[in-house]
Amino acid sequence: MPETTAVGTAPNVDMSAVDTTTPFERDVDSHRVVSCYCCRCGETATILAEPGRTHEWEHARRHPTHVVDYWREDES
Ligand SMILES: [Zn+2]
Repeated sequence: MPETTAVGTAPNVDMSAVDTTTPFERDVDSHRVVSCYCCRCGETATILAEPGRTHEWEHARRHPTHVVDYWREDES
């Protein structure tokens, strides 16, 4: 029987190989509820993105070196 392999996040991922597209850059024509989590300092935010909004979380813009996770709250 094959064992189930847990999928984890490596602490030192090569960012150049990661898809850096954020939910703000997808489905731009619709309303999006995007949750943000800063892996560096633990700050969180929930952003209601208007249609046409493409800029990301201000925290990420203020701290370009911080790694921020984004995910859609309004879709599974
Ligand atoms: Zn941060």
